[in-house]
Amino acid sequence: MSKVIYPKVALIGLGLIASSISHAIRRAGLANEITGFARSSETREIAREIGLCDQVYDTAAEAAQGADLVILCVPVGAMGQVAAEIAPVLKPGATVSDVGSVKQAVIAAVAPHIPEGVHFIPAHPMAGTEHSGPRSGFAELFDNRWCLVVPVTGSEEAATERLQSLWLGMGAKVEVMEAEHHDLVCAVTSHAPHLIAYTMVGVADDLRRVTDNEVIQYSAAGFRDFTRIAASDPTMWRDVFMNNKEATLEILGRFTEELFVLQRAIRTGDGDHLFDYFTRTRAIRRGIVEAGQDTDAPDFGRGGGG
Ligand code: NAP
Repeated sequence: MSKVIYPKVALIGLGLIASSISHAIRRAGLANEITGFARSSETREIAREIGLCDQVYDTAAEAAQGADLVILCVPVGAMGQVAAEIAPVLKPGATVSDVGSVKQAVIAAVAPHIPEGVHFIPAHPMAGTEHSGPRSGFAELFDNRWCLVVPVTGSEEAATERLQSLWLGMGAKVEVMEAEHHDLVCAVTSHAPHLIAYTMVGVADDLRRVTDNEVIQYSAAGFRDFTRIAASDPTMWRDVFMNNKEATLEILGRFTEELFVLQRAIRTGDGDHLFDYFTRTRAIRRGIVEAGQDTDAPDFGRGGGG
């Protein structure tokens, strides 16, 4: 029995997420044909060389022409522009989706370009690594990770279910979520933690200690995880913060308050407060392991995700 869900899939942007999608679709035979487009000729050449897609085009419109599913895999700030480029060639009944780490801003930028008769169903796979580009993808990236599907007003049930079955076929677990809630959840689980990691590495650099032998040698004690996260793509993360402003600022405001309380506990010698706080956070970690979202292994090199 054929497992094909969309005969022709177009990937706009050919970085980590798009290349992983291509590998995952091929692994499970979910499409007959995959086309692709990337902005730079360099990326397009690499994609051709490694056979990432059946056909790589020099324009987004050529790649999207005749596709049953077009997935926008560019940084959040570029989504509106590529949507405008592909809009005139989208075939009736096709679905446009995206993988952006922010949903409200992407919906606002993309939805106005979607023609009548074309479905728009945003999504966000909660999986990634600090690597980028067409060579960085792998078929297992989405295995057992969540993909949040965020239908917009008017998204048809059947089209939404079809997209969900694609993500399930790529190994992901799927949950439907509302855009505003998505942005808040991601601010807590991903965006604020990334900003904190960027800050921590920046602070160590300011102290001129980041390249010290000592720091590198002993960095497994927490700092190494921060440097991995802080190595994530600068364009992608600039766009995330520019486009998920409100939720990120809300979480950072709460974070700063908590930090002050902990700071005060340290200054006043309130060990009980610190102990209780760390007991609570340890239980949260246990919950994550029990939910199958991480293992107990002390693997500090594992992937994160936007
Ligand atoms: P990536 O590896 O850096 O790839 C980005 C791709 O977008 C490249 O092909 C790039 O083309 C293209 N691009 C960049 N700016 C563009 C522009 N202005 N116009 C047209 N194309 C442009 O990024 P990625 O990690 O795959 O991320 C793609 C999307 O997935 C982002 O929206 C991100 O928020 C989301 N996401 C990322 C992660 C993660 O952990 N990385 C996780 C979940 C979701 P060139 O190579 O030619 O420059």
